[in-house]
Order: sequence, then C-alpha cells, then structure tokens
Amino acid sequence: MKTLLKNGILVSGKGTRTADILLADGVISKIGSDLTDASAEEMDVSGKYIYPGFIDAHTHMGLHVAGTVTADDFTTGTAAALAGGTTMIIDFGTQYHGESLAQGLNNWHAMAGGENSCDYSFHMSISEWTPSVKNEVADMIEAGITTFKLYMTYPAMMLDDGEIYEVLKTLKEAGTFAGVHCENAALIDALIRENKAGGFLTPAAHPASRPDTMEAEAVHRLMVIAGEAKAPVMAVHTTNEKALNEIIAARKAGVNAFAETCPQYLFLDRSLYELPDFEGARYVCAPPLRTKKDQEVLWKAVKAGVIDTVSTDHCSFTLKQKELGRNDFTKIPGGLPGVETRGNLIFSEGVGKGRISPACACRILSENPARLYGLYPKKGVLAEGSDADITVIDPEKEKLLTKDGQVTNVDYNPYEGMKLKGAVEKVFLRGDLCVEDGKLIRRGLGRFIKRGLPDYRHEEGLA
Ligand code: MN
Repeated sequence: MKTLLKNGILVSGKGTRTADILLADGVISKIGSDLTDASAEEMDVSGKYIYPGFIDAHTHMGLHVAGTVTADDFTTGTAAALAGGTTMIIDFGTQYHGESLAQGLNNWHAMAGGENSCDYSFHMSISEWTPSVKNEVADMIEAGITTFKLYMTYPAMMLDDGEIYEVLKTLKEAGTFAGVHCENAALIDALIRENKAGGFLTPAAHPASRPDTMEAEAVHRLMVIAGEAKAPVMAVHTTNEKALNEIIAARKAGVNAFAETCPQYLFLDRSLYELPDFEGARYVCAPPLRTKKDQEVLWKAVKAGVIDTVSTDHCSFTLKQKELGRNDFTKIPGGLPGVETRGNLIFSEGVGKGRISPACACRILSENPARLYGLYPKKGVLAEGSDADITVIDPEKEKLLTKDGQVTNVDYNPYEGMKLKGAVEKVFLRGDLCVEDGKLIRRGLGRFIKRGLPDYRHEEGLA
C-alpha cells in the first residue's frame, strides 16, 4: 500500500519545508517536490503540519499501584496514544523485589501481549541492585531494552544514593543511562506524618507534603551522584523552577544531564487541589502540580532547549478509583491521564500561541525521545527509509477537550472544557492510516520495538 501526501509542511527538529512525501511498504520511501506515483493513494495535505509520529517516553499502562490497577491497560492506552498522534510509547517494565530483570521484562511482555494500537517498548525499572542484576544489564540491552529507571522515593522501588551511583556508572559503561524520579523520600514521609497528625487529610495536603524543595534537593543529589559517576542521567517529570535550576547548574559543572517535563506541569497548577467535593483528587500525582510561575519557567526552558522531552507520565485512574483516598490523601492512587491529549495540547497552546516553534514541538515530542531512547533515525524524523509514522496536524482544526468520546479509559479529562486550535487530523502507523479526521479508525497494528543505544547529544539554543 502506498500513500502520497502532497504539499505538506514537513517539520524537523531544525525547521520546516513544504514537500511531498511518499509512504510505501511501511516506510517513507521518498521526499521531494512534485512527486507522482500512479499506484499511490494521493492526499492533499497543503497547509497541514507533517510531524514524525510522536513518541511518549513515559507511560504506565496496566500498572498495579496503591491496591488497584491503572484504568488504562496496553490495549486502551495504546489506542488513546494513537488517537492523539503518538505512534510509540515507552512504558516501564519493573523488576520488583526478589525478581530478576528478566522476570520483570517477561511480566511486562505478558502484560502488553494483547492488542496494541501504537508501537511500544519499555524502560526497565531497577528496584533491587545486586551483582546478578548488574550482570543482566547487558542482557536487557541485547533484548532491546536499552534505558532504565530509578526511584529516589517509594519504599518498594527506591535505591539508596550509593546504589544509584553504581547503577549509573554501570549503565555509562554499557553506553546508556537511567531516568530518575527525584523526590526526597524521608522528608516527604515526615511531612505526610505531620499533615495527618494535624488532621489534614484532603487532597490539599498532597502538595503540602511534597513541596518543590523536596524535588529540587533530590535533583541536586542526583546531579552530584551523576557527576561523581561521570555518567549521563535524566531527571524525569521535572516540575518546578528550583529543580530546573539544579539541572542547569549541574550542566554548567559538566554533568551530562537531560530533563523531561509533562503537560500537567505546563498547563495545570496546584490551586486545583483546593477544589471542593474531593475534585482535587483527580489531579493527585507525584511530584504534584506546582505554581503558575513554575509553568512559565518550564515553558521558557522548553523553548530554550533546556528541557529535552515532554512526555506524559500517563497513569490513569477513574474517579471511583480516586475515591480510595476520600478520607486519606495518601491513599489516592497517584497519576493523571495524558497520553491522548499531549500532542494536541502542545501544538495548540505551544506552537499555536507562539510559545514554541513547530520545530521545537518536533524536538520535544518526536526527535529528542527518538535520539535519547535509541530509536533514531528509524523513528523521530521524516527521512527516506524511516518508519512511516506520520502525524498530520491541521492548524485550523478546533478541538474541545472533554471526557466525552475520549479513547482513554477514564471518566474525566484533566483539561475538561479547554478549546484548542490546531489538532491531530491524520495518523499513519508504519504507513497505515489509523486516524482520520481526528478519529481512531484502525487499531491493533502496534508492535514491540527493539531499541538501540541512546544518543546523548544535548542541544540548546535552537529556535
Ligand atoms: Mn512515572
């Protein structure tokens, strides 16, 4: 099957150009002017932005947390992703205590063994660091699981500073790195105890127990550790100015540090936790939402290339599941849906409102995750030979964000009522048209993708 997209505005990480693009046999077979092919179905995409399919490098599908399991599994989650222009997700396989990395990976392959609508891979979360786990790092890379995840908080998952040092050093020697959840676990526990003892049990106590300083301190510590290990590292879901300043300072000191943020930290703020009727619970995630000032700082950092990727940390729960914490904010399952809305939000509110260029959106949504996570140039770029993962955005298309009709398996939308201008119109996954006029028309074509080693380049100062 061949498709010829005519006169689109092709977007790369460096800029845009108008050209035709021919998709054949699952890949981009030709890019140029005045292309013709009698055997191809021709589509006029003039005035539309043609992006390499978006990659969401931070999702949690089918994850068991807080005595429940996320509302989206791989089947619904990958469909939601595709509907929103994301042609690949990277979820997190997890080694739980007592397991080998291989067991963790097998568990996740089994969990993702049903219908997938976009391509997928996993990072591997290491929760126990032993000599045998160290030996398994090479096996993971061989299996295409080339990046890792570490936690500085959550008792079931966290490693201590010395272990983090050893992991980062080991990964560096293997040619790769870890993304790290940065929060100060012990201090957060103390603040939670203090809030509960004071009778503060509502969602408003959640951000009060996890202030920005707890994140910034952990980012600082991580940067010190990475500096000593002479190893690259990524701070995932960076939420605030203080944490970001730690990353900037570490880079100046020579640490090869990468930064990720998420749409919820760009668009939502902590005042939402004060909503009446337990509505604040729907925004509980860790780290929590911050201030409007932090949002501004994050946007500037995205524009300047200080932040490398915008992923979602999609971890969805229904309102009924959120009720588990009705009388105790620490029992609210933490996480927000986002995999379906990321591309539309970033395009409309980022590119459409002039906060970032079309090329910057390409870098944070496609190119940088592809490079950092060993997918480039198979994905993350419109180039001859690359997978024909294509997201077509109509800059004039209006879209109302609402829970009604969303593909995500959740009964609320954190952005309910937001009116977007500029939205996903078509999505091709390896050449197959799966979204038309913003509607998911084809499911089930997603595959597990083996990844290569990362490319650590960090570029600032691009427009
Ligand atoms: Mn996460």
